Amino acid sequence: MDFESTVPGMTNAQTRRTVLRGIALGGLSAAVGACASGTSTAQEHLTTPTTPDGALQRLLEGNKRLLANQTLHPQTLDDIRKHATGQAPYAQVFGCADSRVPVEAVFDEDFGDVFVTRTAGNVLSDPTIGTIEYGVLALQTPLIMVLGHQNCGAVKAAVDALKDPAKLPTGPLGALVSALLPAARRAKEHSGDIYAAALEAHVRSVVTTLQGTPSLAGPIAAGTLRVVGASYDLSTGKVSLY
Ligand SMILES: [Zn+2]
Repeated sequence: MDFESTVPGMTNAQTRRTVLRGIALGGLSAAVGACASGTSTAQEHLTTPTTPDGALQRLLEGNKRLLANQTLHPQTLDDIRKHATGQAPYAQVFGCADSRVPVEAVFDEDFGDVFVTRTAGNVLSDPTIGTIEYGVLALQTPLIMVLGHQNCGAVKAAVDALKDPAKLPTGPLGALVSALLPAARRAKEHSGDIYAAALEAHVRSVVTTLQGTPSLAGPIAAGTLRVVGASYDLSTGKVSLY
């Protein structure tokens, strides 16, 4: 069933999302679908989260669908058109630029579902924080997931540069790797896989930085925004929370 056919006058995906969000705030979120696809009834059963916990649950359930080979989003031209006039993403993901971690695929989502920012090694800068701020302040996303991944080349470069400073690149790339050195230093204090430890230390640091960003502190204190850290396994496709 196409949701659009049940709501006269609804002409675009954003309008439908806005209406759905309003209905959800009224306590009826479980009763309505979100994706409003005319081609997949399964997508219609996905609800649009309005809370941090709901957004996190939907992301993790999407990753489970991927692992089970039961994805719902084929990403068709029809889906593009439905979101052409506006966006109302239900979550943000700040990921690594690595080509093997495409966020929408990792969480089985579609056009318009997730507000995504990616930099190599999940390294923050002021414009990057500004992008994430926009997602919260303008788009009201209730969740920010910082998604690192195992075997991250940027993290490895920092750990290796710590062992041998001659390996630290110069120029802008050097600045990127340098931003990961504090996490690499903290990882040296741990036994086991230093690269995995550096990744975790860095993701936790990014989460802390975002939580301490003044513009985000209010929504976090009010319980309307949550920042979580997670790791993606390149071999299995699984996302695990820190
Ligand atoms: Zn990476």
